[in-house]
Amino acid sequence: MADKIESSAFSLTEEQIAIREAIDDLCEPFDNEYWRKHDADSTYPEEFVDAVYEQGWMSMLIPEEYGGGGADIRDAAVVLEQIERNGCHAGAVRAGMYTMGAILRHGSDEQKAEYLPKIASGELRLQSFGVTEPDAGSDTTRIKTFAVRDGDEYVVNGNKIFISRVQHSDLLLLLTRTTKREDATKPSDGFTVLLVDLNKAIESGQIVATPIKTMVNHETNELAIRDLRVPVANRIGEEGKGFKVILSGMNSERVIVTSEYIGAGFYLLDRAVQYANEREVFGRKIGMNQAIQIPIARAYAQLQAASLMRWRAAEMYAAGDNPRFEVNGAKLLASEALWAAAEAAFDTFGGYAAAEEYGIERAWRGARLPRTAPISNNIVLAGIAHGTLGLPKSF
Ligand SMILES: Cc1cc2nc3c(=O)[nH]c(=O)nc-3n(C[C@H](O)[C@H](O)[C@H](O)COP(=O)(O)OP(=O)(O)OC[C@H]3O[C@@H](n4cnc5c(N)ncnc54)[C@H](O)[C@@H]3O)c2cc1C
Repeated sequence: MADKIESSAFSLTEEQIAIREAIDDLCEPFDNEYWRKHDADSTYPEEFVDAVYEQGWMSMLIPEEYGGGGADIRDAAVVLEQIERNGCHAGAVRAGMYTMGAILRHGSDEQKAEYLPKIASGELRLQSFGVTEPDAGSDTTRIKTFAVRDGDEYVVNGNKIFISRVQHSDLLLLLTRTTKREDATKPSDGFTVLLVDLNKAIESGQIVATPIKTMVNHETNELAIRDLRVPVANRIGEEGKGFKVILSGMNSERVIVTSEYIGAGFYLLDRAVQYANEREVFGRKIGMNQAIQIPIARAYAQLQAASLMRWRAAEMYAAGDNPRFEVNGAKLLASEALWAAAEAAFDTFGGYAAAEEYGIERAWRGARLPRTAPISNNIVLAGIAHGTLGLPKSF
């Protein structure tokens, strides 16, 4: 493990600095070789995920009355950033931290009492959410998965794509339509969110999950949903108003993934700086060459700027605001800064960047995806243009 270069502790409390140290300890056994192997074999990092659950980090955002840690989004940001800062893969766990927010904010008292304590204790894992569809992509309003009411159940049919971790989750938060787009008063009306018992659905064949191998070990799947029966009691929020339920989770997701990108970027720079200070070619350290120094320095400045924007967004979110620009701007800047750090690290390691045992090519692959998923930067920029700057809508 490379020594860590200075990264901003701006606005961190003593408790949050202690969280960083606890995460450093948690991550220590999960070294480059551990992640290289899981990546090569496309296997789920069970031991790492178990450790994160066992130490209570996954339930930190659940209020104490339901058995969680009662922490706020800023603490969660510290955890996710530090996991990536140590070269570990936060994508394996992150959704388990914030997906429960839909139940917390929109669930009934009975649903909260039934699910949140079990999610907090780790008895139930809510690691999966199903939004994306083959024919809808970035335009969620065009999803077709449809839920028809039949007595006290919904019967759901449709197809989803890129739905991650279904094999490692007990529950799935599923976005459906209960009114077709063409029959709804506006495109964002007519959605309904259902909490699906995944074990039952997969066992009975009502959901068939087909893994999709991707450039990162992300355990993602195509889902065929056929006559899936979900009790009406499992509906989260009102029928027809599910878009709001899904959207309300997006801000916390963005603050969390942005923090991961910042941690991953600093990790790549930790490695690049260490290597540039050690590797000698032409009789001197490669770090003496400005062609090596400048991209590293630029990426560092970009990461620091993204980090400040992230803290601003997190603060506003924690204060109960709905900071759309700050959250999306931070995601944009952090994903670009991460990519700059990955490119700088790749160039610094030269040919060794391509050798799997160094872990740079794996981190570099992982650094590309955030510009495209969970939301592409094109769509983020369009949102800033339309929503913040008042430019005409392009879609
Ligand atoms: C590894 C992985 C894991 C994922 N996990 C999940 C998950 O667990 N659950 C889930 O629901 N989804 C998940 N996703 C889906 C992810 O959120 C989508 O891939 C992402 O939102 C982009 O949608 P798309 O791939 O259909 O791209 P498309 O919507 O088809 O877009 C293709 C390209 O065109 C661009 N584009 C389209 N329209 C416009 C426009 N009007 N202006 C400018 N550019 C435009 C986009 O920016 C993009 O670059 C995952 C994806 C991946 C790759």
